[in-house]
Amino acid sequence: MTIKTDAVIIGAGPVGLFQVFELGLLGLKAELIDSLAQVGGQCSELYPEKPIYDIPAWPVIGAQELIDKLREQIRPFEPGVHLNQEVTGFEAKDDGRFRVETSKGNEFDAGAVIIAAGLGAFQPRRLRARGLEDLGADNIHYKVTDRSQFAGKRLLVLGGGDSALDWTLDLADSAEHITLVHRRHDYRAQPASVAKMKALVEAGKVTEQQGTVGEVFGVPGRVDAMELNTLEREKVRVEGDEVLVFWGLAPNLGPIADWSMQIEKKQIPVDTEKFQTSIPGVFAIGDINTYPGKKKLILSGFHEAALAAFGVQKHLNPEARQFLQYTTTSPIMHKRLGVAEEKA
Ligand code: FAD
Repeated sequence: MTIKTDAVIIGAGPVGLFQVFELGLLGLKAELIDSLAQVGGQCSELYPEKPIYDIPAWPVIGAQELIDKLREQIRPFEPGVHLNQEVTGFEAKDDGRFRVETSKGNEFDAGAVIIAAGLGAFQPRRLRARGLEDLGADNIHYKVTDRSQFAGKRLLVLGGGDSALDWTLDLADSAEHITLVHRRHDYRAQPASVAKMKALVEAGKVTEQQGTVGEVFGVPGRVDAMELNTLEREKVRVEGDEVLVFWGLAPNLGPIADWSMQIEKKQIPVDTEKFQTSIPGVFAIGDINTYPGKKKLILSGFHEAALAAFGVQKHLNPEARQFLQYTTTSPIMHKRLGVAEEKA
């Protein structure tokens, strides 16, 4: 079955979700597609429990809480949500519309396509080591969804970037002990986080260990020790109950990279009037796009979504006059939002 819609949004991260809202205000219907099992992009997948401090009017909001609020905000517009499926097929048709196909065989006939694919269909860089495949271990984690499962445990945290350091600081109080394994002495994380981690090392809560993972040991179903190759070319054994790997994401644009669209260093160049790509009718917003001065912030993505919605409206109906309406005073927007007052 082909789903006909005004716009297909590829990626249901915070920016893709907000795009539904901005299109909805203009009376446009959207279908959301995401390769992950849940909406929320990086916020839900990578740091659901972390507080965000730079969302306007929210002095602090949890990353998952932000996603929950966005879902609530877009509810009046009832987008179709298609999870667990990657966009695999794309075709610009002769009639100016687009055919979009997913790995689950869903097909869409869309007036416009908005790529809100963040870093691409991202995958965490996986731990590879001798002995790992044989164990079939399920105590190796690439994200923290429930920090309570690590309470009272000895943790092996692998990585030297912000995620590795943030989670080391976060879990240090509740874990029995943390061994932080990084391949060199310098950390990529914020200096303030490194300083806090060093203080935990002084306090005996964290042990730092440099080296790369050579081999893992354990029993079927779990890893409980690793042999590291140190910078001094020695072999060192570290032990733990749970392994947390934060080696970053391997961004993978996937099939989007094969579309006949301009791409620069895995980013999609756009104009800053409507955030349109080199293909008319295809827009790119959020972390996936690039333009002079681009900052990969949720706030920037929200602004881009607002202007892209007007771009989509113009693309679908080039002759129509466009005018700005306020949500406070526009009766038609109230109707679309489902907040129109009953007439007495
Ligand atoms: P994403 O959140 O990356 O979502 C993109 C979605 O597209 C993903 O769900 C992906 O699965 C999907 N997708 C990709 N390709 C396909 C495909 N082919 N088919 C189907 N689906 C696809 N920003 C701030 O503003 N403030 C902060 O405090 C902040 N803190 C952060 C902390 C951490 C640890 C991290 C990692 C990031 C932080 N960020 C912060 C950055 C912020 O999370 C990103 O800017 C934001 O998530 C970008 O949103 P997005 O919707 O563009 O992309």
